[in-house]
Amino acid sequence: MRRWLTIGVLAGAMSVLACDIAAAQPAPPFTVGPVTAAPGTTASGTIAVPARNGDTGTTIPITVIHGVKPGPVLALTAGVHGQEYAPVLALQRLLETVDPKTLSGTLILVHVANMPSYLGRTIYYSPADRKNLNRVFPGKEDGSLSERIAFALTKNVIERATHVIDVHCGDGNESLRPYAYWITTGKPEVAAAGKQLALAFGLDHIIVDNERPSDPNASIYLSNTAITRGKPALTVESGGLARTDEASIAAIERGVSGVLKHLGMRAEGPPPVAQPIWIERSEVLRSGGTGIFYPAVERGHTVAQGTLIGRVTDFHGATIEEIRAPFAGEILYVIGTPAISKGEPIAFVGAAAIK
Ligand SMILES: [Zn+2]
Repeated sequence: MRRWLTIGVLAGAMSVLACDIAAAQPAPPFTVGPVTAAPGTTASGTIAVPARNGDTGTTIPITVIHGVKPGPVLALTAGVHGQEYAPVLALQRLLETVDPKTLSGTLILVHVANMPSYLGRTIYYSPADRKNLNRVFPGKEDGSLSERIAFALTKNVIERATHVIDVHCGDGNESLRPYAYWITTGKPEVAAAGKQLALAFGLDHIIVDNERPSDPNASIYLSNTAITRGKPALTVESGGLARTDEASIAAIERGVSGVLKHLGMRAEGPPPVAQPIWIERSEVLRSGGTGIFYPAVERGHTVAQGTLIGRVTDFHGATIEEIRAPFAGEILYVIGTPAISKGEPIAFVGAAAIK
C-alpha cells in the first residue's frame, strides 16, 4: 500500500514536471508578413504594397520582437499620418530597449504606416490619392494606395495581434496636449479591456469616444478595426507641430512600458494613471472659410463657453470668421500654423469630468 502511494505521488510529481516543461517550452516562431522571428529574437523587414492602378505601390517597415515565453501579441503603429514624428522616434527607441529575452509574448512595431505621406511630408492626406489613411480602414485589396495600405495593415498586423495601440500625435499643423481615446463601442469585454489599456498607458487625459462604427467592414479607423474584430485597442496622441521633443517621445515610451507590464509581457513598468481626467464631451471645431488662421488660445488652455478660439481672415486681411468655444472646457489641440481650408479642423475642445 505504501509502495502504491509512493508510485501515485511520483506519478503526480511527474505530471507536474511535465506541465512545467510544457510551460517552459519556448514559443514557436512568429511571422508577420515576410518577417519571421524565432523565440528570443528581434527580426525586421518590409511589407510590400505592390503597384496597382497606375501608382508605384509602397512599403511598410516593421519589426517583430518575439519573446521566449508565450503571451499577448501587442501591435504598435506609428506614422499613420505623415508629419507625426514623435511616435516614429518612440518606436525606434523601443526597437533598442525591448529585450526579447525577457519578453513574454510578441511586440509588432509598424515604424511608418503611411510611407507616401511620410516621405511626401504631407499632413492628413496621402499625396498618392488625397485620402486620410485613418479614415479608410479596413481597406481594400484592389483600392487606391491608402486603401491598400490599410488592407495590408489589417491582414498582416491587426489580424495577427491580440491588442493594438495606434500611436499618433498632433499632425504637422496641430499644437496638442497629450491624451488617449478610450473607444467604448466594442463588445463590453473588449471595451472594458480597452479602458484598462488606456489607464495603463498613463496619459492623464482620456477621451471617452462613444461614436465609432461597430461594423468590421466599415471600421474607418485603425484602432477601431481591431476593436470590431474583438481585440482591445487604443489610440494615443503625444506630440505635434512636426516636432521631436523629448517629453512627447518619453511619454510614449513610458506608456508602452506601462501596457507591457499591464499585459504581463514584462515584469517591470510604471503604474497606471492614478487620477485620470475623463473627457466626456468633446468637439472638433472646423473652419468655415479658407485663408489665414490666427489662434487666440494655446493647447491646454481652459476656456469658457463663448471664448474666442481664433479667427480666419481672407488673403487680403478681412476677417471671415471668429470661432468661439461651444462649451466650457480645455483646448486639447489648436491649429498652430496659418494655412486653413474650409471644413478643416481649427481646434479640439473637451469637457472634463474627474472620476
Ligand atoms: Zn494622426
